[in-house]
Amino acid sequence: GEVRGGQERESTTHCPYCALQCSTVLSGERGGVAVRPSADFPVNRGGLCQKGWTAPSVLAVPDRLLTPLVRGADGELAPAGWDEALDLVAGRLREIRARHGADAVAVFGGGGLTNEKAYTLGKFARVALGTSQIDYNGRFCMSSAAAATAAAFGLDRGLPFPVTDLDGADVILLAGANPAETMPPLLRHLESADLVVVDPRRTRTAERAALHLSPAPGTDLALALGLLHLAVTEGLVDKEYVDVRTTGFDAAWESCAAWWPERVEEVTGVPADDLRTAVRMLGGARRAYVLTGRGAEQHSKGSDTVAAFVNLALALGLPGREGGGFGTLTGQGNGQGGREMGQKADQLPGCRSLADPADRAHVAAVWGVDAQELPGPGRSAYELLDALGGDGGPRALTVFGANPVVSAPRAAHVTERLKALDLLVVADFVPSETAALADVVLPVAQWAEEEGTLTSLEGRVLRRRAHLTPPPGVRTDLEVLHALAVRLGQDAGRFPVRPREVFDELRRASAGARADYSGISYARLDAGEALYWPCPADGHPGTPRLFLDRFAHPDGRARFTPVDHRPSAREPDETFPLYGTTGRVLAQYQSGAQTRRVPELVEAAPEAVVEIHPDTARRFGLADGQTAEVGSVHGTTRARVRLTRAVRPDTVFVPFHFPGAGRANLFTGDALDPRSRMPEFKVSAVRVTPAGER
Ligand code: SF4
Repeated sequence: GEVRGGQERESTTHCPYCALQCSTVLSGERGGVAVRPSADFPVNRGGLCQKGWTAPSVLAVPDRLLTPLVRGADGELAPAGWDEALDLVAGRLREIRARHGADAVAVFGGGGLTNEKAYTLGKFARVALGTSQIDYNGRFCMSSAAAATAAAFGLDRGLPFPVTDLDGADVILLAGANPAETMPPLLRHLESADLVVVDPRRTRTAERAALHLSPAPGTDLALALGLLHLAVTEGLVDKEYVDVRTTGFDAAWESCAAWWPERVEEVTGVPADDLRTAVRMLGGARRAYVLTGRGAEQHSKGSDTVAAFVNLALALGLPGREGGGFGTLTGQGNGQGGREMGQKADQLPGCRSLADPADRAHVAAVWGVDAQELPGPGRSAYELLDALGGDGGPRALTVFGANPVVSAPRAAHVTERLKALDLLVVADFVPSETAALADVVLPVAQWAEEEGTLTSLEGRVLRRRAHLTPPPGVRTDLEVLHALAVRLGQDAGRFPVRPREVFDELRRASAGARADYSGISYARLDAGEALYWPCPADGHPGTPRLFLDRFAHPDGRARFTPVDHRPSAREPDETFPLYGTTGRVLAQYQSGAQTRRVPELVEAAPEAVVEIHPDTARRFGLADGQTAEVGSVHGTTRARVRLTRAVRPDTVFVPFHFPGAGRANLFTGDALDPRSRMPEFKVSAVRVTPAGER
């Protein structure tokens, strides 16, 4: 915290929720914390969304976890002391490991954890537990974008330029992104641009668009191929850029040559003339950007879909130049840093590869362990959850910063897998739906009670600051991991509890890697420096804009990736005649564990709804306000009908933030992208029926 005017204590920090990481100033004491937006932070410039304005409520929720809970012989969770709870967890982990091997214990992390926590969690899994079985919920958010952009550009940073670069844009294509609901303060950076919005729904963002393209769910890959086809046939390709700065154009052209506009219209439902208008707008603009979000990414072909939009941007000569570019809009608060710091199944800190001997040796040296002993890559998030309690699968799981009962696909199945475990440990600050299933619940500090760093969607490293001390009985995640590591036989010094110390270690672990933080320090950040990674040395100014001179591949060139359209894993049929798709609403965040506890947000969005076109509702005998069942081969969601013409007649939409029978993920399935292992949240085949009388 800092003192201003010698009176009230104020702390400059950032919003607990999304990747825009709006800067806020907190004042007041526990029970009466007030928030206001920082006036001078360029990303939110005095703005916050409804979630940010009400974030202090989460500090005062009535059901805050204030003591460890242990499930007793009677099957109920009951308060326990910290030593009792930690001894129990460490003892059971040892037992399970001794009986079934190190990979029988697993770790599930979150994209909201600070860099320090994400780093420590990865190290805890691989060193203290010796398991390969760690992944995190970011696999459900950004993994397709990460896979596609790493392949194209040689590294993966959501926006390879500052958000403020968008201010002067002439045209921005938003593919599957709805910032008007998910991150409203971003809109002020889009004001100068004509927006081309690709989204099956007429979202609040689409309402502001100069052109809204509404493809059938799961066909945006065909749409992107059609746009590239038109860029070529309309003579809009930047030939010099393609020659000098890229490789692989010919193969990419071959992959889209047959996607002439009329064929794209047939597959997507988007009029060929609208496709022509879109590509002429983009190709004719002086400053144009292509941005993707979850709508393009959360498919069994998500990484190919993002790759197709990257190909389009490359053909138009946009990435790596000032006043143009390609980017992906990260979702979770630390979705960027969270995927760089080593809680991902296949990565070590700095986005180093678990399969690369030099990368393993570097990190092993920082950790003071033998590189031979580091486990290899493990299962991806859904595959990990799916394997729990089964033959050869993990028998114990520790969860930090995630609520997979609500957020994972095929939720009823995942819930059964969690129940099949010998040991489920959940660290959280509220009794989430996942904590309710746990054998041991560990109460941890939350955003305004802890120090650390997060990396925002533009790759800028930001300081989170403690305004309050955690309530008595509550520990930080770093303290919990330290205590467990020591009980598992690790030297106390190997798992520091002070965030600054962890950050200094993380700097060394990332030194020389793609996501190089080695020149960034708390001292520099606290002095007000705006530092974007890579920042490879003390005194280095950081890298707000990547790729201006060269891309991060050894030859300095970006790579086109040839991709082709394919259907979703399960398309509508006679039994399940509609597309079911999932997404977000303004007033809730992710699994809702935090925002469903904020009165204003509950009032704005109290429960799951199923958005249905009036014609479709009539066809299936449904009326506004009635409870409907949305069923797929995987399960059934119950939600209240909301009639709207914002969805296509062939599609229903359910936001995924809600618990119990209203979980949208009850109908989502287990199809995964072969490259990114992203589940197909955006397309299910469903039927809707009036809910049976209860
Ligand atoms: Fe918080 Fe995101 Fe809203 Fe900003 S846009 S206030 S970071 S939830």
